[in-house]
Amino acid sequence: MWGASCARGATSSAGWPGMRAIATDVTHGPWNWLAGQRTTPLDALGNWANIEPRSGRVLASIPMSGPQEVDRAVTTAQAAFPAWSRLSGTERGRFLSAAALKMREHLEDIARLDVIDNGKPIWEARLDMETVIGSLEYYGALAASFNGQHVRMPDGSFALVTREPYGVVGGVGAWNYPLQTCTWKAAPALACGNTFVYKPSQFTPITAVILGEILKEVGVPDGVFNVIQGDGSTGALLTQHPGCSKLSFTGSVPTGIKIMQAGAVGVRNVTLELGGKSPLIVFDDANLKNAVKGALMANFLTQGEVCSNGTRVFVQKGIYGKFLHEFVNQAQKMKAGDPLAEDTTIGATINEEHAQKVLGFIERAKKEGVTVECGGERIQLESELANGYYLSPCIITNCTDTMEIAREEVFGSVACVFPFETEDEVIRRANDTPFGLAGGVFTNDLTRAHRVINALEAGTCWINTFNLAPSEVPFGGVKMSGIGRENGTVAMEFYSQMKTIYVEMNDVDCGLLYQD
Ligand code: NAD
Repeated sequence: MWGASCARGATSSAGWPGMRAIATDVTHGPWNWLAGQRTTPLDALGNWANIEPRSGRVLASIPMSGPQEVDRAVTTAQAAFPAWSRLSGTERGRFLSAAALKMREHLEDIARLDVIDNGKPIWEARLDMETVIGSLEYYGALAASFNGQHVRMPDGSFALVTREPYGVVGGVGAWNYPLQTCTWKAAPALACGNTFVYKPSQFTPITAVILGEILKEVGVPDGVFNVIQGDGSTGALLTQHPGCSKLSFTGSVPTGIKIMQAGAVGVRNVTLELGGKSPLIVFDDANLKNAVKGALMANFLTQGEVCSNGTRVFVQKGIYGKFLHEFVNQAQKMKAGDPLAEDTTIGATINEEHAQKVLGFIERAKKEGVTVECGGERIQLESELANGYYLSPCIITNCTDTMEIAREEVFGSVACVFPFETEDEVIRRANDTPFGLAGGVFTNDLTRAHRVINALEAGTCWINTFNLAPSEVPFGGVKMSGIGRENGTVAMEFYSQMKTIYVEMNDVDCGLLYQD
């Protein structure tokens, strides 16, 4: 997902002039970030081999934090909470704004780290960094003006409604936008006065720690932002820890349900950013070139590993043939290569298991009788990249709405294109899914665009574009795609709770209860 300005090897600190105290070695830890420094966990549930998707090489063996370490992280964040929450919004915002500037100074280096961790093309990683910086800038600016309410009551009495931080926010993230996911949670959480413990996906552990180093560099007090590494077991320990007063999760629906169950114990507030199977609807009158660009953005960024992807592309019959021809033509022009190379448009899938999962969906779809118009195959690159996980972008037709490929989230470069005839028909088919993350429509008829978007059961919609997610506008889903929103002013509400204070300015009137 990108900001509005455009569509969503080891480096050493020696190569980073002017950047103090920020380690960028992707092969040596420690990998946790507690109390303002890299730390080795007190206990571990085992070690995780962190693999570089572009080459398949093992970068590092990372200890997965155990119960003692998770407890230490939450306790550290609890200890930092009183002082951090007592600062004014202006003071907290100043730190976030400074972090945004620091990030921009090192945008290129940190983008490269995201590529090494995730496998996406470098030009995309740079745009992701813009959304990271945008989030820090936006919540840095917003922190000062996030105020409560004053409500007049009779005879000069009044009520105040204040917004209070929760305390420690426990965050858990997915691997497709490693630093973006972390920052989209941390920036509003910190702006509101919470402290934060984040567990990145075990597949992308590198850059969340860099955010810790950047925040320290600009003076954020130790313990305000913390990172613990590990897989789902560490995530479960964190989200079940009673010291986390608020949970924020980005990942799949099945894990989201577990996080919500963990939150239910202790009746804790949850933000859930989950999966999707979103529709992209192209009407006959759409600008063909823009619609194809939209479909490419809706399916083939970051190897198709994008939650909001419009993987069900509904195209009206009159434009279907031309659209499909150009969509396939463009997909076939995409270039697999080193994700660190400037001209690469097909990067590496996150790991072998996920590549097999994507290919498995395609194989089963073929057995159900679909037509594969292009792609869906393993791409073998050479030398250093020979063991990376590269797949060609796949476009499928002749599939029905009920087939597995049309209903399940593949989370890979696989688009299904369906013809349709009428507006009513396409709205019914678009909404026939338990997911509700996103949706889009391409048409030059303004009233139809709004009528259709109005009818879509989706939290985030686009008209004549797709997959933009600037910091200023809320992002999130309905139905099984989530609860709550990230980005926009509304995220401040999700990272704070309301306190109502009634102030009596007169003698207490308690009716007959009190007799003089
Ligand atoms: P996942 O659910 O497998 O894992 C997400 C995170 O949860 C990881 O850090 C994992 O270690 C952790 N985890 C696993 N089990 C846990 C448990 N029991 N308790 C606590 N934490 C646990 O998802 P993934 O494969 O990492 O990411 C892909 C999914 O994320 C897709 O469904 C995608 O659509 C979704 N996603 C959604 C958004 C959004 O904003 N809506 C953004 C990115 C990704």
